[in-house]
Amino acid sequence: MTDRIEVHEHDVLVIGAGGAGLRAAIEASAQKASVGLVTKSLLGKAHTVMAEGGVAAALAHVDPQDGWETHFRDTMKGGSFLNHWRMAQLHAQEAPDRVRELEHWGALFDRTKDGRILQRAFGGHTYKRLAHVGDRTGLEMIRTLQDRGVHQGFDVYMEHTLTRLLKDGDRIAGAVAYRRDDGGIVVFRAKAVVLCTGGVGKAWRITSNSWEYTADGQTLAYEAGAELIDMEFVQFHPTGMVWPPGVMGLLVTEGVRGEGGILRNNKGERFMWKYLPEARRQEYAADEDEARRWVEAAVEAKQTNDRRPPELSTRDNVSRAIYTEVKEGRGSPHGGVFLDISYLPADRVKRKLPSMYHQFTELADVDITKTPMEVGPTTHYIMGGIRVEPDTGAATVAGLFAAGESAAGMHGANRLGGNSLSDLLVFGRRAGAGAAAYAKGLSAVPSVNEGEIEAEVADLLAPLARGQGESPYDVHKALQQCMQTLVGIYRTQADLEKALEELGAIRRRASAVRVEGSRVYNPGWHLSRDVRNLITASEAIARGALLRKESRGAHSRLDFPDMDAQLGSVNMCAVKTDAGMRVSPTPLPQMPAELKALFEPAKEKVG
Ligand SMILES: Cc1cc2nc3c(=O)[nH]c(=O)nc-3n(C[C@H](O)[C@H](O)[C@H](O)COP(=O)(O)OP(=O)(O)OC[C@H]3O[C@@H](n4cnc5c(N)ncnc54)[C@H](O)[C@@H]3O)c2cc1C
Repeated sequence: MTDRIEVHEHDVLVIGAGGAGLRAAIEASAQKASVGLVTKSLLGKAHTVMAEGGVAAALAHVDPQDGWETHFRDTMKGGSFLNHWRMAQLHAQEAPDRVRELEHWGALFDRTKDGRILQRAFGGHTYKRLAHVGDRTGLEMIRTLQDRGVHQGFDVYMEHTLTRLLKDGDRIAGAVAYRRDDGGIVVFRAKAVVLCTGGVGKAWRITSNSWEYTADGQTLAYEAGAELIDMEFVQFHPTGMVWPPGVMGLLVTEGVRGEGGILRNNKGERFMWKYLPEARRQEYAADEDEARRWVEAAVEAKQTNDRRPPELSTRDNVSRAIYTEVKEGRGSPHGGVFLDISYLPADRVKRKLPSMYHQFTELADVDITKTPMEVGPTTHYIMGGIRVEPDTGAATVAGLFAAGESAAGMHGANRLGGNSLSDLLVFGRRAGAGAAAYAKGLSAVPSVNEGEIEAEVADLLAPLARGQGESPYDVHKALQQCMQTLVGIYRTQADLEKALEELGAIRRRASAVRVEGSRVYNPGWHLSRDVRNLITASEAIARGALLRKESRGAHSRLDFPDMDAQLGSVNMCAVKTDAGMRVSPTPLPQMPAELKALFEPAKEKVG
């Protein structure tokens, strides 16, 4: 069998060429491992390139009071304390160095008048913390990492989709992939595999995510025996486009609100004041005047004692607020609310938010320097994913590592904006180093099992060979409808049980799909596997959501509207068993006393 299959061998195989994958590959190569970098898309096309608002790091260039302790506190509070404390600590401590390193490698961030890195405000961050390049930060990041990477000497396999991890006993031995252009099968033999495949957003109908986000890494890891945690925590970004229908869900960056964007309902009310959680109300401007003064100071990159506008509440809170306004009849004509930045000078809006200006002019015929945008919640990010060991990125299967959006633990119940790009850099680097160190410890590449490869190839090709069956597009549509209506922003026991029942039926349909045509560039065939991955992730999400009988962070239960202290000490963990998926609570690692002390009121004043 293997003589007809292309075979490659590496110490470390990195899957995914977004920020996490590129940073992992750079680090593993720097540790002298032979590295292969695989992406199902083209270099430069990952989600990271779509990131707009910025990368969060307590550089303290605009607000000198900032420091890692405050960033750590903000991240833990934003995640409702379900984050792995060690990941939040490493992230807050190391993000500034990772951003400076990017600069050293050639990234050009926007500057203050006196030449420091300009940092913008984002929801849930106490200080202005997001280093950015207008609203095209991800592009600069990918460009810089790619430039650095090509000099590193690793092999790149573009348009190769990984479909199965191979094991030798209990440890990773490699992976099977197909080439998207000609459908050829490729086997990678490797001592270690680092999964950096991103998120799961294509399970919903309204999403900011592209075709690449089909839960591949989460499912590959799960099938190989790794643990998935926190899958019930899916972030619905408050501001996606709602009109026209063809672009529904497309992201409107939080940078708009960071630059002073105001949310209003159809009565012209600035409604976010009434949705601020009581416990955090004192962090926000008391009235329009204070909010306006804060924006004026931000425009000048000046320090101010004024507090931030209520639109900069955390994403979970703003999403629920918009959802409620629309549901109670105060929405905009196309089912969203209004986001207004048109009161600021037009040249400033065009300079600070060029992509948003372009996006609305080209796609919706709306000039945002003159007219408010219409926005509503869109599926954006998954906090849950592959359980990893914080320092090394090691998953719970020997030789398997993960970083970026496909990994879990860093963000707890809700991610703060800007904390993903910094997560990719901090933990991409750590996972690359962890995988290289693990690979060094093995004298030879583990052996792969021919039978396992043959079985995978047969399974992969089955939809093309079937004489009859449904189209994978119809199955995908059914899945998206199910997740959109039953596992959305607000959840209930009845809806989640119904979703699980429907997912069972959708899974059966997915296993019997038929694809027309050949293996050459056949997106229907690609989807036939993608949709199965999405169903597995969706099941983990729905099962976790059913067990979490409370509302915390991005997970809101109408039937359990409050937080439950006991559930605050556990992660929901999904594993594969002979009887199917098992999801059960596992204890959350306890924060050490010296970090707990940072939350004492006296310490909160320290930067
Ligand atoms: C529109 C938008 C704006 C955003 N703005 C911000 C922001 O301003 N700040 C911020 O912090 N975060 C932002 N985010 C979130 C952030 O961009 C992502 O969470 C982050 O880029 C994920 O990076 P990653 O490296 O984990 O995955 P990605 O960058 O998505 O890379 C995933 C890679 O895995 C590959 N892949 C997937 N499956 C397979 C497979 N089976 N085989 C081979 N390759 C595979 C893909 O081709 C891709 O190369 C934004 C997200 C979106 C969608």
